[in-house]
Amino acid sequence: MGSGPTSRLSGFYNLSLSERQARLAEAAALEADLLATLAGTAGLGPAQADHMIENAIGVFGLPLGVALNFVVNGREVLVPMAIEEPSVVAGASFMAKLARAGGGFTAQADEPQMIGQMQVLGLTDPEAARGALLREKAEILAEADAVDPVITGLGGGARDLEVRLLSETPIGPMLIVHLIYDTRDAMGANAVNTALERLTPHIERLTGGRVHLRILSNLADRRLARAACRIPAAALAFDKFGGEEVREGVIAAWAFAAADPYRAATHNKGIMNGVDAVVIATGNDWRAVEAGAHAFAARGGRYTSLSRWWAAEDGALHGELEMPMAVGVIGGATRVHPAARACLRLMGVQSARQLAEIIVSVGLAQNLAALRALATEGIQRGHMGLHARQVAIAAGAQGELIERLARRLVDEGTVRIDRAQALLREWGPAPKASTGREKPGLGER
Ligand code: NAD
Repeated sequence: MGSGPTSRLSGFYNLSLSERQARLAEAAALEADLLATLAGTAGLGPAQADHMIENAIGVFGLPLGVALNFVVNGREVLVPMAIEEPSVVAGASFMAKLARAGGGFTAQADEPQMIGQMQVLGLTDPEAARGALLREKAEILAEADAVDPVITGLGGGARDLEVRLLSETPIGPMLIVHLIYDTRDAMGANAVNTALERLTPHIERLTGGRVHLRILSNLADRRLARAACRIPAAALAFDKFGGEEVREGVIAAWAFAAADPYRAATHNKGIMNGVDAVVIATGNDWRAVEAGAHAFAARGGRYTSLSRWWAAEDGALHGELEMPMAVGVIGGATRVHPAARACLRLMGVQSARQLAEIIVSVGLAQNLAALRALATEGIQRGHMGLHARQVAIAAGAQGELIERLARRLVDEGTVRIDRAQALLREWGPAPKASTGREKPGLGER
């Protein structure tokens, strides 16, 4: 299905770490230096980190995995995920395989329009100030356009000006100016913030007020991305669970999140397990995406699910996810962090919108992984094997002992560090070399 390398690398999780690297390099035609960066033997070092933040002392690692089986808008895509939590990569890959049975994911992203906010204080007549700003909208937009000739040259730049009056704040009324700005393939915070600062004298002259804050809004609700998938009921069946039973279980689980903020928070956290892992792997600002997601989830005045699941007349399970997705393929750390650059290359994405479409597809897959598990066998069964490995490592196991100890903890039904330590003491030291096996798992816990 689709052009480019296949994302269907069967048996991948059964390979050793180095075999997986070789298989990936072959499948995606990766050059040796790119593979070394993804493998973590090259890439971001302390010297480079020193140029990125203040008081740098080194770098912090995270496991990097590849989610398989994804087809987004008919294109096969190997999805890099940087995440410390077990089950997420396996969960996404497994659900992408189910979605493949229904043609994969269809996704679409809005124009990359961000909102920059200016807070105008000290106005005697806010209505008159609003009128003055709107009358001079064209001149203000032209001034904002002149700030970043690269972005305007690429067809982006200032798009609109909105003026809002917040009449009841703790310090009285204030006027809020929104600059709508198309940031093309950048996340755009710097471009927008620079434009806002440049506009300040003009806005103060027109309003007679004082411009206080000038900053991008992370509620990027003009830059939404949406993904949808269709999973034939038969593909949902497993073990003793029938396809229709799983479908109805998933829908009931979603309905809970749609109606209850306590559940919705965890439901959306499961979505963000997938979203953040790709956002981080591509060097994007995951705090910005998180902030946008949760603010958007509460847009109706009550926090709710970002996704929706239903049964269609064809009997299939249908799902969709819509959320703000302010990510770039230019700017920030996306081109500075060597692994982020390599991850973008692995996905073969050409634009910020294309990246956003993949990310929401992964979020939707991850959501289904969690709902399917919760609605059937429960989250712990699939999770415990992976969790047990972390407990084994935390208890001090190394090499082959990790697998052996993890298996024993699961068999005993006691996945606890005290028990792991007791077993290790009983067994004594063992030879090194880990296999790093994974099992399809869940997505939210
Ligand atoms: P940036 O300023 O590093 O790069 C964007 C610039 O690249 C553009 O302004 C443009 O001049 C140039 N460019 C070249 N080719 C382009 C193309 N095809 N499309 C768009 N621009 C192109 O990055 P940015 O995206 O403006 O800022 C992102 C950074 O800002 C992130 O690191 C983020 O953490 C940080 N930040 C975020 C917030 C927030 O979320 N509230 C606030 C401040 C800063």
